[in-house]
Formats: sequence, C-alpha cells, structure tokens
Amino acid sequence: MDIEEISKHFIHVYNRNLVFTKGEGVYIYDSQGNKYLDMGAGIAVCALGYSNEEYKQALKEQIDKIIHTSNLYFNEPSVKAAGYITEASGLDKVFFTNSGTEAIEGAIKLARKYAYLKNKDSKGGIIAMEHSFHGRSMGALSVTGTKHYREPFEPLIGGVLFAEYNNLESVKSLINHDTCAIIMETLQGEGGIYPASEEFITGVKKLCDENDILLILDEIQCGMGRTGKMFTYQHYGIKPDILTMAKALGCGVPVGAFAAKSRVADAMCPGDHGTTYGGNPLATAAVCKVFEIFQEKGIVQHVNEIAPYLKEKLEALKDKYNTIIKDIRGMGLMLGMELSVPAGNIVKEALENNLILISAGSNIIRFVPPLIIEKEHIDAMYKILDGILNNQANFGNIL
Ligand SMILES: *Cc1c(COP(=O)(O)O)cnc(C)c1O
Repeated sequence: MDIEEISKHFIHVYNRNLVFTKGEGVYIYDSQGNKYLDMGAGIAVCALGYSNEEYKQALKEQIDKIIHTSNLYFNEPSVKAAGYITEASGLDKVFFTNSGTEAIEGAIKLARKYAYLKNKDSKGGIIAMEHSFHGRSMGALSVTGTKHYREPFEPLIGGVLFAEYNNLESVKSLINHDTCAIIMETLQGEGGIYPASEEFITGVKKLCDENDILLILDEIQCGMGRTGKMFTYQHYGIKPDILTMAKALGCGVPVGAFAAKSRVADAMCPGDHGTTYGGNPLATAAVCKVFEIFQEKGIVQHVNEIAPYLKEKLEALKDKYNTIIKDIRGMGLMLGMELSVPAGNIVKEALENNLILISAGSNIIRFVPPLIIEKEHIDAMYKILDGILNNQANFGNIL
C-alpha cells in the first residue's frame, strides 16, 4: 500500500509507515509479508501474543451468542469478568470502560463524588505526578504530567497539582484541605519506565490514609501480570482505593475498567456515570478468557521466570555499549533502556532489521513484549540490537 495515499484520509496525529496484516505468537507480519519480532506487543496490550487459539475461539463463540446488550441489562461475561477482577485485585466493585482513558475519567469522577458526599463545597483537588501519562481526554489529560500534551488544550479541569514522582516531600507539600485524590502510575510507563520506590508509594499510601485522600493507582500499562504480580502494587504490600486497568486486560479487544473498595465505590449511584458499550459481552468475554488463560498457563509465573533473562541481556548490552546505554531499569517484562542517543534512531534501525521496539520519551526504549516471550526470542532480539548498537558505536557520531 502507498503510505502517502492512505495517510491522506487520516487526521495526522501518528507518524506511521507500516501496514500490519497478521500476527502469530510474538511475531507480526506486514503487508509485504515481512516478519517482525515484536517487543512492543501493541503497546503492552497483546500479553498473550498474537492469534492465541483459545482466546480466538472464546471470542468466536461469544460472537455467535451476543455481541452487545447495553448497560440497561446485565450480561453473563461481564458478571464473570467483574468477579475475576475483584478477586485478582482485592478490590470490591468494578466499572467497565472501552479504554484506559475512560477508566481514568471514571476514577476521577468517583474520587470527586466521594469528596462531594463528605463536603458539598469540596474543591475536588487532585495531586498528580510530573512525567505521568493517563490518557488524552480532557480529564485524563488534566492529570497527565507532560506540559506539551496539555498546553494546547487548556483550560482543562481545575484543581490539579503536580508533584515530583518518587519524592514524598513534594507530595506532602502539595496536600491541603481540598485534596481529594492522589493519582499515579505504580510504574511510570510513557514517562520513561520509572518504578515507584517502596518508600515513596508506601509513604503516599500512608498520607492518603491519614488525610482520607483516595489513592488512585493507574495500572493500565503495568498491570495484568507484566511486572511479575497480577498488579504491580502487590509488590509493595499496599492496595489503592481506586485502580485503573486496560491495555492487556482484553489482550486486543478494546476494554478498560476501574475498580474500587466498596466504601469508595458506593459513592456512585444510578445516573452518576455510564457508557453504552462499556463491559459489553464481547469485550468482557475477552477479559474472562484472558484471566482463564493466565491461570491455566501460569502466565505470571512465566513472567517471573523469563524477565530476569531479558534484564540480564539488556545489562549485557549496557556493559558492552556503556557510552550509548546509560541505564536499564523497570520491573518484570516492563523494562526501559535509557540512551545517550535519540531512541528514534535505534527504533528505526530495529524496524529495518525486523525488530519492533517502542520508545518512551525521546531517549528511552521501552521493552514491553508479549508475556509469552521465550529465551530464544530474547536471544534473537539481543543479536539484532547488538548489531545496531555496534554500528552506532563504530560509525555513529556519538563517540
Ligand atoms: C495507555 C495508557 C493510558 C491510556 O489508555 P488508552 O487505552 O490509550 O486510553 C493511561 N494510563 C497509562 C499508564 C497508559 O499506559
């Protein structure tokens, strides 16, 4: 397909020049039939890789039964999916959305309603983090900590203050009597793969508890087993008041959700919130099957077995190319490689060598492969990256 021709009919907000037509396991194929090893998984979505038989079968069966009913009625898959989510998260109640952004919107609304019930004059103040990413709608954008994403669209929702991530004092200094919620990613993704320090996240949790402030953890990217626990906060022995999830929740079918403890969730009453599609039978049949496959195949266990190998290989590259690679960080199968050169160059060269990488910010490559990745795939990735970095080291203008 002629990229210039097909681009004509799209609002130009993405820079893209490939057409993908099918996928199989950890590989994806373009319209020319080229095969790529995928370390991006559709931006941390395709946890089960591509074309999982059992998953496809479940969707086909659901399509034959019913695809949509609206939220005027219950449907069976959503009941089951809500059960899986509450069990896995330790939270009590769920609302299904169609995307991560909408899960954030719902979480913000829930926090505001909770504060409103306590005090009708509540200003609904929210503390968010610098370099955070929570989505593109007006509400989600309002708590996203990258100024150039926000600025052209102001005025956004009011009452949002930004604290420095992993700096407890910074959060503390912003808390006032209007603060109703603190929102953050348990592991910052888009902002550059920064995990929360134990001291920070447990400290924030304590501040929240002491001041009856709700802690909203955004696990849209880092949740669903990616870091070696079903949800990343489970590494820290804490629980959020509100949790947002999406991306790998449906492993490709668009679906998100937010969940909360009853004490918080019950602030919402009929009429407060809603969506036409959210939690429809097709989307939630996908969610059910994802949880079932995770269970059957021990996906989280596999992440814990394979992730150290990916880290080891990336560390080996860092040792070898220590002028180009500044840092390797992250948790589980959500790792970042910070470079002293623009990530875009490496991403582009990788693509030319049939390896899909995605960047986070201007100089960080983010590794978020399908969770079913095996050693052989990591070895193949290592070989390609080694070649590219070797070229950069010898012929790039960075030395
Ligand atoms: C992707 C992402 C979102 C937005 O999700 P969409 O499904 O793109 O709307 C929000 N928060 C985090 C942490 C994300 O990674």
